[in-house]
Parts: sequence; C-alpha cells; structure tokens
Amino acid sequence: MTATPDLGLGVEPTPLALLLLGQRTDPDSERGTSCPGELPPASDPKLVDRARAAKAALGDSVFVLGHHYQRDEVIQFTDVTGDSFKLAREAAARPEASYVVFCGVHFMAESADILTGEHQQVVLPDLAAGCSMADMATAEQVAEAWDVLTDAGVADVTVPVSYMNSSAAIKAFTGRHGGTICTSSNAEVAVRWALEKGSKVLFLPDQHLGRNTAVQKLGLSLDDCVVFDPRKANGGLTDAQLQAATMILWKGHCSVHGRFSRACVDEVRERVPGVTVLVHPECKHEVVTAADLVGSTEFIIKTIDAAPAGSAWAIGTELNLVSRLAKQHPDKTIVFLDKTVCFCSTMNRIDLPHLVWTLESLVEGNVINRIEVDSETARYAKVALDQMLALPGV
Ligand code: SF4
Repeated sequence: MTATPDLGLGVEPTPLALLLLGQRTDPDSERGTSCPGELPPASDPKLVDRARAAKAALGDSVFVLGHHYQRDEVIQFTDVTGDSFKLAREAAARPEASYVVFCGVHFMAESADILTGEHQQVVLPDLAAGCSMADMATAEQVAEAWDVLTDAGVADVTVPVSYMNSSAAIKAFTGRHGGTICTSSNAEVAVRWALEKGSKVLFLPDQHLGRNTAVQKLGLSLDDCVVFDPRKANGGLTDAQLQAATMILWKGHCSVHGRFSRACVDEVRERVPGVTVLVHPECKHEVVTAADLVGSTEFIIKTIDAAPAGSAWAIGTELNLVSRLAKQHPDKTIVFLDKTVCFCSTMNRIDLPHLVWTLESLVEGNVINRIEVDSETARYAKVALDQMLALPGV
C-alpha cells in the first residue's frame, strides 16, 4: 500500500483526487495510471531530433498512429492520422509492425490490441490518457442495468449498440448480448440494424450521439428516448418508462463536446457574418439542431477540404483539430464554436516528451505502457467489432 502523499493542503486528498493528480493508479479506469520512468524535459531543444532518430532506428518495426485530436508536435511523427475506428483498422493492416504506438486514448489502444495480431504489441505513450466518456460506463454498472432491463421484461427485445468510445469490457458486453459497436459515422446504420433485430436499443455510453441519431436520422421523437442514470436506483426509470421507450440512452457524454451550447451557436452567427456552423454529433441535441451541418471528425475534415475559398466556418469539435484545419486552410475563415478554449485534456497528455520516451525505450528493447486486453474480453469485444464491420456500408 502506498503512503498517502502530503500535498501540503492540510487535508487528506480523496483517492479520486490522487488519481487525477497522477499520484495513484487505477488500471481498471479509463483515467489510467501515472507514468513510470524518466521523461525527457519538455524544454529539451533536441526532442524533435531525438524523435526522428528513434523512429528511423525502429524502421518498419514501429507504426505510429495519431488521432485527429492530438497535438501538432505529435502528429508530425505519425504514419497515419484518423478517427478511432480508422486507426484501429490501419493498425490491423500493418502485421509487419511489431510495435504499434497509439497516440490517442486508452480505449483506442485497446481496440487496436483486439484487432492486431498476437505478435504485435500496442503501446500508449501516457497511461493517464483515458477518456472521461468511456469512464462513465463501467462493466459492473452495465451488468446491473441489464438486470434492471431483465426485471422490467425488456432485455429480450433490447439490442445493445455501443459507441467505439467505450472500454473493451463494454464492447465485450455488447458482443455477448448480440449487439454491435458503432462510430459517429455509422451510428444511423447501426441503430437501424439493431431496431430490425429487436424493438429497443440500449445505447452506450454517449447519450447525445444516441439521441441525435434517433431523432435526426431515424425520425424518432424525444419522447421515444429515455436516459438511464447508473447512479440512480433502476436507472431512475420505472418499468413502464422502459417498456414504452425505443431508445434507452446511457447517461454519459463527452466532456469536450458537451461544453458547446445553443448560446455558442447564436453568438457565433452574430460575430461571423455568413458563417456555416459544423458540429460533431457528440454535441447536445440543442446544439445539433441549431447547427447547419453535423458529422464525424472525418466528415468535418472532408467538408472543410471541399469548401470554397472565402467561406466562413464555426466548428464544434476538439480544439487541436479546429486549429489544424484553420492553419491548413488560410483562404477560409475557420473559428472554434466556443469562445472558451477547450482541448481534450486526456488526448493532450500525449506530448513530444512522452513520444520520445516511448520510441527511445523501444529502440532499447524496452516495451513501456503496453496495452493488453485479456483474451476472454477480447474475444467478445471482437464479436461486436466484427458485427460493425458486417453492417452495410462500413
Ligand atoms: S474528446 Fe471526448 S470522447 Fe474524445 S477522448 Fe476526449 S473526452 Fe473522450
């Protein structure tokens, strides 16, 4: 047992506070654990050269993946960029790479480990790079929720649909119960498939993507959706509410996209004349309905690439991506939807010092921060991932 550190606060910090401060570990949490080992200082002027040299020394034995929300200082060393699903598929398509370095967050590295071969090792440069949304649905909570659905007599007609942004354990639950994984690009196809198989969907863990898909894409009403709150008895719902609902939405959200509000949309329309508002479907329903266009990160990138010079855009997604798009398209006006700066704090944990530390450790034959999903969890999670791949148009 580690002694409680004295933080000079005059009070004993809670376990959660210690975890967030990197003073404690929780291997079961998407919040991750603190990094062991010596990181190079961020002030080292040779970091870029060191990263370049280590990557060259590793050659084809390493494949570096970078999520769109990563910092530019990291993206410059990636072999491919993309959303979580594209990156997992890219990793699976590189069997010659012994090491897959995933510059993203924990659940993405888990998916890469599930989809890559036994001989490949997936590494996350900072184990504290978790995802607050994925953390909002634990395996125990979801198992209890399924018991509630069983007692209400609806489990037999309910098909789980889980967003990629969930832990391997939640993906395995989905596979065990005949469901599918979805991404923000194919959520509509996934929910339609599930509603042909059953009469209800349990959508995990992002209530906003579930609601926006049901209402905007499938034409369901808000009254067809209920929110299951795992912190309340029976999810805060009566049996009658569960029996009447078509979409049972898990009470989870993205802390980055959840910040945008209707007021942000109204404000930017006044501030930037002629602006087109383009948002991610993880935003609240009030934001999505007020926006002009809604789509995944890949959709956002393609839309901006195809936009005419002189056009004006307000984008509601993670700030690293919006800043990069603004730099890549100086002929267009591109602004962040909120006036407040908002990066994904866990994505941002992967910085150049962590990448250099990871690559140099691999050069020395030392595999740090390996992400390994146990075989039983991986087997059922892969069932759900394979089901997604079998959906039309994926
Ligand atoms: S942007 Fe949101 S969903 Fe994506 S990793 Fe960060 S907290 Fe999770």
